Amino acid sequence: MVSFALERRAVLSLGANLGDRLVTIDAAVRAIEAIDGIRVLQRSSAWESPSWHPDGEGLTPDYVNIVLIVGTLMEPIDLLDALQAVEDALGRERAERWGSRTIDIDIVAVGTIERASDRLVLPHPRAHQRQFVLQPWLELDPGAVLPGHGPIAELADYVDGDAWRLP
Ligand code: AMP
Repeated sequence: MVSFALERRAVLSLGANLGDRLVTIDAAVRAIEAIDGIRVLQRSSAWESPSWHPDGEGLTPDYVNIVLIVGTLMEPIDLLDALQAVEDALGRERAERWGSRTIDIDIVAVGTIERASDRLVLPHPRAHQRQFVLQPWLELDPGAVLPGHGPIAELADYVDGDAWRLP
């Protein structure tokens, strides 16, 4: 019998704003499902939002984002390695910090961990400010709490920004 008792729940945010964004996101979900040591538990609808750039909104194509809730026994840094391998395999292109992405996978949170290292900050340092993370996460788990920030339903009430659910 397999025991999931020690599994942690991790919240992932997947985003794409180049090419066929939904096709890329589907491919990323399949690649994540295929990772040994990760179980995809829930997948949100797709949400669209304007891209953010220091020179103004809407200068690059809109993003499509989803949230995945996964169960894993992996150490967070190993999870990051595995997800970055998925980004690489899907041909993530990025020319500049705020540039467009074929696929971007962020670890929003892993259980209740609050920890920062050179490569990994948990929870993700900008997740609490992003409607395109909060809205799809709310859809899956309205009572969720973002460690260090509080209930996501409250965060979503006062965070600026726009995200709309795709039909
Ligand atoms: P970005 O291209 O903006 O998604 O940033 C990627 C970089 O952020 C990678 O080099 C990661 O090492 C780092 N990083 C720090 N914290 C996180 C996190 N919670 N999830 C994903 N990447 C992270």
